[in-house]
Amino acid sequence: MTMDRTIRTAGELVGAGLVGAADEQAISRVASRYAVAISPTLARLIDRDDPHDPIARQFVPDAAELTLAPEERADPIGDGAHSPVAGIVHRYPDRVLMKAVHVCPVYCRFCFRREMVGPQGLGTLTPAELDVAIAYIATHPEIWEVILTGGDPLVLSPRRLGEIMERLGKIDHVKIVRFHTRVPVVEPDRIDAELIAALKASGKATYVALHANHPRELTTEARAAAARLIDAGIVMVSQSVLLKGVNDDADVLAELMRAFVETRIKPYYLHHPDLAPGTSHFRLSIDEGRALVASLRGRVSGLCQPTYILDIPGGHGKAVIGASAIEAEGVGCYTVSDFRGNKHAYPPKD
Ligand code: SF4
Repeated sequence: MTMDRTIRTAGELVGAGLVGAADEQAISRVASRYAVAISPTLARLIDRDDPHDPIARQFVPDAAELTLAPEERADPIGDGAHSPVAGIVHRYPDRVLMKAVHVCPVYCRFCFRREMVGPQGLGTLTPAELDVAIAYIATHPEIWEVILTGGDPLVLSPRRLGEIMERLGKIDHVKIVRFHTRVPVVEPDRIDAELIAALKASGKATYVALHANHPRELTTEARAAAARLIDAGIVMVSQSVLLKGVNDDADVLAELMRAFVETRIKPYYLHHPDLAPGTSHFRLSIDEGRALVASLRGRVSGLCQPTYILDIPGGHGKAVIGASAIEAEGVGCYTVSDFRGNKHAYPPKD
């Protein structure tokens, strides 16, 4: 089967050699519950000879998704608790999420918004809802940053993105517009001059946060797409999810962070996996996560260090959860661990 269009059904997964015929029925049940999309670029990246391929694991549905754990929840990071109007999440005083669209070019099997995205998800904001969302931002002068997420905002046409940027551009107190996306990796050709121009607005700084979880996602084409954005004056940061069977390995994690830095993308967030329904096969313990993140400290440059975070269930925001290198030993006295794990008094005792 040629891979020139996005794979969306169990039958297409079987046809593309990504799922065995015997599993088609179970995968069909998963696909009717959670959206499936694997772009041609990603389908080509999957090594069909590797039963543990880290790209396949992120995008090819698995019957394990039908198993729900008691601690899982439909809205794991509590967006709903902070949504004053449709499409806006106002959790922190100086910034809002703006979810103009709930569609993605690919669907991650561990998605924290899997109950909201996809063809059966919350859809795209209507023109009237978009008016209300923009009006909310315009009437809240404390909003310094608008984060377009979703869904993946870069699935919108350059014309629609340009309209949103033009309207945000007229709001003086908004200084930063950030886009969260997978497009440079999964559909790198979409990052063309027209789309890049649409992401910019006079007087605003545009940031693009690229979601990628394995170094193999940073292909030559993906790196070139990122370079087009960066050369146009857009700042790029990364966000990754720590995932069992994908990047829960010190060498893979180090290679991923180096790949970002080589691409001029500053590693930003490394998320502990959220309690999304049917994703327990991706979750590792926080202790395992902390050990992996600590192993990066001595292994790779300071430029390559992400911040390990947990979104506190219930909508309470992000907490930094990396292991602390310093412990209080009394008033004004500390023990600090170096990157080899050796401990030192601070201030020094001699
Ligand atoms: S790109 Fe983001 S919103 Fe879309 S499926 Fe993946 S994690 Fe979910």
